Amino acid sequence: MPERSESDSRKLLRRLRDMLAIPGKGQDRLDQITHLIADSMRTEVCSIYLFRDPETLELCATEGLRKESVHHTRMKLGESLVGRVARSGQPVNTADAPSEKGFRFMPETGEEIYSSFLGVPIQRVGEKLGVLVVQSKVAREFSEDDIYALDVVAMVLAEMTELGAFTGDEGGMKALHKQPVMFRGTSGQEGAAEGRVWLHEPRVVITNPVADDPLTEIDRIRAAVGELRVSIDDLLEAETLDKEQKQVLEAYRMFAHSRGWLRRMEEDIMRGLSAEAAVEKEQSAARSRMEQISDVYLRERLSDLDDLSNRLLRILTGQGHDTGAEMPENPVLIARNIGPAELLEYGRKLKGVVLEEGSVGSHAAVVARALAIPLVISAARIVAEALNGDAILVDGDQGVVHLRPEETVARAFRDKIAMQAEAQKRYASLRGLPATTTCGTTIALHMNAGLMADLPSLDGSGADGVGLFRTELQFLIRSKMPQRAELARLYARVMDAAKGKRVAFRTLDIGSDKVLPYMKPPEEPNPAMGWRAIRVGLDKPGVLRMQVQALIRAANGRPLTVMFPLITETSEFQAARAHVLRELHREKSLGHAVPERVEIGAMMETPSLAYAPRAFFELTDFISVGGNDLKQFFFAADRENELVRRRYDTLNLSFLAFLQHIVARCGETGTALTFCGEDAGRPIEALALAAIGFRSLSMRPASIGPVKALLRRVNLAEARAVIDQARAEGAESARPMLMDWLATLGTD
Ligand code: PEP
Ligand code: MG
Repeated sequence: MPERSESDSRKLLRRLRDMLAIPGKGQDRLDQITHLIADSMRTEVCSIYLFRDPETLELCATEGLRKESVHHTRMKLGESLVGRVARSGQPVNTADAPSEKGFRFMPETGEEIYSSFLGVPIQRVGEKLGVLVVQSKVAREFSEDDIYALDVVAMVLAEMTELGAFTGDEGGMKALHKQPVMFRGTSGQEGAAEGRVWLHEPRVVITNPVADDPLTEIDRIRAAVGELRVSIDDLLEAETLDKEQKQVLEAYRMFAHSRGWLRRMEEDIMRGLSAEAAVEKEQSAARSRMEQISDVYLRERLSDLDDLSNRLLRILTGQGHDTGAEMPENPVLIARNIGPAELLEYGRKLKGVVLEEGSVGSHAAVVARALAIPLVISAARIVAEALNGDAILVDGDQGVVHLRPEETVARAFRDKIAMQAEAQKRYASLRGLPATTTCGTTIALHMNAGLMADLPSLDGSGADGVGLFRTELQFLIRSKMPQRAELARLYARVMDAAKGKRVAFRTLDIGSDKVLPYMKPPEEPNPAMGWRAIRVGLDKPGVLRMQVQALIRAANGRPLTVMFPLITETSEFQAARAHVLRELHREKSLGHAVPERVEIGAMMETPSLAYAPRAFFELTDFISVGGNDLKQFFFAADRENELVRRRYDTLNLSFLAFLQHIVARCGETGTALTFCGEDAGRPIEALALAAIGFRSLSMRPASIGPVKALLRRVNLAEARAVIDQARAEGAESARPMLMDWLATLGTD
C-alpha cells in the first residue's frame, strides 16, 4: 500500500467537506463518504457502523461489502473487531483479521475475502458514535500514517454528526441530541422535577472541523496555547491560592507547556483539521485513555488535560461560560461535578441537579439536600448528551433522569409530581398540629439544617426547632477558613431566624467524607474510621475553641445548645465539654454576655458509646443518635459505598434492639434523647423509632409533613407489639410486618 502523505489527507478532508456542503439525504451522504474514503485510502472496503442504541452497532453504509447487509448486520458493543474498537475507543489494525482475538465473521456481508482490517472509533469528546472501518484483500498491516489519516476522517465525521449532517431520513444516522434518553444514576436527594437543561459548562460547538490553510491554523493554535499559558501563569500568581490549588495549577502548567500535546495538535492540523477539531481530537483520545485507566492519580491527570482542552477550545471559539444564553425557566443543572459554593450560588432557582460524578456524601450533595433540590448523581454521559434547553425530568427518588422524554413518560411523571404536590398540601394543613399519636404520645419533630437558606423551612415545615445544625457546611463552601467574627454573625442570624426555638449546633464534623478545601486531610486508609470530627477538634483545638467562642458571642445571652460529633468514649466528651466551660469562663472574664443556659450534648455515632459508664449519661445534657454513622459502624457497611450502603435495613431487629438499649440507658438517667440521622425522616423508620421509645426526631424539613402525617394515624403500643411479634417469629427485619400492619389501617 503506498504511503499516504499529509497532502493526501488534506485532499480527502476537503473532498469530504465539499461533499457535505451539498444538500443531500443522510443515507446518500454516508454512501458517498464510504466511496470517497475507500477511493482515497485505496482499499476495497470502507464501512461505517453506527450505534443503534448504546449497546448495539449497525452497519449503516459500505463500499465493498454486500449492500444487502446495510442496516441488517449488527453487533453488540465489544463483540467482533468492530465492537472491540467501539468499546475500547482504540484502533484495531491487523493483517490477518480472522486470527485476531474477538473476530466474528459476518457471512451476509461477504467480508471473508478481506484479510486486512483497520477500524477506528468515531467519537466526539468521549461520546461514542460508531466505528469507521477499511478492509483490503492483501494481507498487510496498515501504516501508522493510515491509522492517523483514518482517525482524522473519523473525527470530521463525528463533528459533522454533531451538526446533523447525516440526519433527516430513516437510513442515515439518528439525529444526535434529539432522541429521548434515560439515565440511571443514584439518588442524591429525593424529589421530582420537570424542567429544562442548563449546562454548567456549555458545550463548545465546532462548525469548521476542516481547514484549508494549515499554516493559519497552526498560528491560531500556537496563539491560543500561548494565551492559555499566560492565563495559567496569572492564576498561579494569585495570592489567595492554597498549596493544593497551586499543585493543580502546576499540573495544568506542565500540560500547557508540554511539547507533545502541541506537536500532536499541529500534526492533526497538517492533516487538514482546523485548530478546534485538533484540540478535540486529542481530547477524545485522552478521554478514551481515561476510561481504560484505573489508577486514580493518572485518571486525575488525564482529567486535568480534559479541563485544559476545554479552556483551549473556549479561547479558540470565543465561546465562554457566558454564551449570552438565558437560563430557561425551571432550570435543571447538568454538570460533570460541581463545588458546593457554586451550587449554592445557583441556589433555589434550580429545579433539579444531575451530576455525572459526585457521591452521596459529596459537598454538592450536602448542599442540594440543604436546598431540598432533587439530585441525581452518577448519571454517566449525561453531559455529552444534554443540550441547553432540552426537556428533562429528574426523579430524585429513583435516581433516574429522562432527557427529552416521550410525552407518555412526561405525562406519567407529571402525575407523580401532582400527587406529591397534593400530599404537600395535606402536610401543610398539619403544620400547626403536633405529631401526637392516636395513643396520645407526642413526638417532637425537629429539622436538620446547615445553611442560612434552610432557616425559612423552620416556619414552613412546622418543625419544633433545629435538632442538628451541621456547622461544617459553612466551612465547606468557603475557600479559606472563616474568621470568628464572621461565624459569630452567621450563628447569630441563625438564632434570630429560629425566633427562640432551640438550635442544636454541632461543632465542626470534618474528615471522612467532609474535606475542607483549605485543610489537606492526612492520607488515611479508612477515613470514615479515621481522624475526623471531635478527634480532630480535641487534637487541634484551635478551631473548636474559635467556634465555641463564636457560638457564645452569637448567643449574646440567649440559651445555647452545643453538641459534639462522633464521641466514642466518656473522656472525649469530658474534654470537649471542658473546652466549652473554659470558653464560657473566658468570655465572661472578658466582659461578654454569656448564655443564660447552656446545654452540652453528645452525638452517639459509635456503638461503644452505648455501653459507656453511667457517669457519661449523667454528665451529658442530651444525646443525639447520628444514625447515619451509627448504622454504618453497627453493620460495618460504608455509608458512602454504593455496593453496600443499602444492604442492611434500619428496621433489622438487631439494630432496633441496639437502639432500644440506647433508649433504656438514657431512660435510667433521664437523659434527653433524639435521633437525627436520615432514617428519622423516613415515615416507617420514624414510626419504628417512636415505637421503641424515641420521643424526639430530627430530619430534613421536607420529611416533617410525611412523618407527622403517619405518626398522627398510629398507636405506638400496637406498632411496638408488631415489632416484638416480628422478633418473636425470628424475622430479620420488622419492615414486612410493620408494612402489613399499616396496610390494615387504611389510608387517611
Ligand atoms: C449522622 O451520622 O447520622 C449524622 C446526623 O451526621 P452526618 O450525617 O453529618 O455525619
Ligand atoms: Mg455523623
